[in-house]
Amino acid sequence: MKVLKFGGTSVGSPERMHRVAELITQQPEPKIVVLSAVSGTTNTLVKISQALQQGQKREVGQIIAALEKHYQDFYQDLLPAEVHQEGEQIVAAHFEALKATTQEAYSADVEKEILAQGELLSTKLFTAYLKSKDIPVVLLSALEFMRIDAHQEPNSAFIRSQLTELLSKHPEGQLFVTQGYICLNSYNRIDNLQRGGSDYTASLVGAAVGAKEIQIWTDIDGMHNNDPRIVKKTFRVDGLSFNEAAELAYFGAKILHPFTIRPAQRANIPVRLLNTMEPQAPGTLISDHQEDRSITAVAAKDGITAIKIKSSRMLLAYGFLRKVFEVFEKYKTPIDLITTSEVGISLTIDNQSHLENIQRELAAFGEVEVDTDHTIVCVVGNMPFQKVGVLKQIVDAIDDIPIRMLSYGGSKFNISLLIDSRYKNETLNRLNEHIFTFPNP
Ligand code: ADP
Ligand code: ASP
Ligand code: MG
Repeated sequence: MKVLKFGGTSVGSPERMHRVAELITQQPEPKIVVLSAVSGTTNTLVKISQALQQGQKREVGQIIAALEKHYQDFYQDLLPAEVHQEGEQIVAAHFEALKATTQEAYSADVEKEILAQGELLSTKLFTAYLKSKDIPVVLLSALEFMRIDAHQEPNSAFIRSQLTELLSKHPEGQLFVTQGYICLNSYNRIDNLQRGGSDYTASLVGAAVGAKEIQIWTDIDGMHNNDPRIVKKTFRVDGLSFNEAAELAYFGAKILHPFTIRPAQRANIPVRLLNTMEPQAPGTLISDHQEDRSITAVAAKDGITAIKIKSSRMLLAYGFLRKVFEVFEKYKTPIDLITTSEVGISLTIDNQSHLENIQRELAAFGEVEVDTDHTIVCVVGNMPFQKVGVLKQIVDAIDDIPIRMLSYGGSKFNISLLIDSRYKNETLNRLNEHIFTFPNP
């Protein structure tokens, strides 16, 4: 079994969906195809939910009407005339549901129901298209097997047992289609795996069925050495280790949802990043193989808050760090980077929802300084400390950019710098120029 995930752009138009159908029928093995919403849809659903939250009923109605029109055109171009009626029914049913949901008062649960409509629509329309081409397909509802627990963590045992049971009902099945991103939570309500979560679905599904390979089909030819949205001259990295890919995804390489790699790595399933527009290209292979090179790639994660706690009580004291960490644990706020000195700790968080409470409780231990709008720039590769000179290369490349924090030695795969976000573009460009050996064209 293989798992193939197609992102928003890859299913972004009727023509692209036709292309995806061709692509998947060219691969002979049994497969589970995970689809995102049509590109732009989830952003529009976010807007609908924001307008609802702000009580802008008219705005809600207008955005829904425009989106409905988009899907009415979409199904007509996607499906042959003889199945237009089915397309019309799919679109009508989902927009009726969406309109009914937006009649309710805003709540987090209502928001998640709204956000789920994109993947539900794309998979139903795509399945209708495959059937119209006489391609045998089974549509699996992700809401029957994808589940997160009370800590928002995927419930792997449940996912595995449910999927196994669902698949066993179709022993002859060669092609299954399901929704990325959406799931049920521990209250049995519709939830999601956060933005970009279809990658994570693919990897959880791959691990659950013991897939031979997980393919992430997107709009670029693989993982690049730097963020192509910010740096002009980037290059594709052919092979990445699970560790390198996990660090890059976690620290901002948008091509992968931050947690995609973990399930695949645990089950040792290779992940291939491929380009729907250029299907013959080799892409990037992520596996347990570590290439013999120092620096592989750079990624950046925005929206970081730095917190510094200064206290003379830390001097010669033990238990101080524990007390500080307990505050973050209490507010379920993960810490990304940390550095300490004799009289202070600096650390970073990317979730500010409990910042005020955290700040108030930390004030009991010493003087607290908070700086928002920072960026973690993460250099990833195979950089054990015995390989001298790597750190110098990085710091020299950005020698006039103020570095707020530097994290080195936490893992041999990662050196992270914290900078004010206004230096991000320059930092990424300078690192691109100075720390990489470009492959021969
Ligand atoms: P999809 O809709 O297929 O999930 P995404 O937009 O989520 O696609 O991810 C693909 C995009 O990720 C690319 O178009 C690219 O702009 C961006 N990206 C950011 N960093 C990287 C990187 N290091 N390598 C490749 N793509 C990256
Ligand atoms: N449709 C969702 C999003 O736009 C999930 C995904 O595309 O991976 O975030
Ligand atoms: Mg994505």
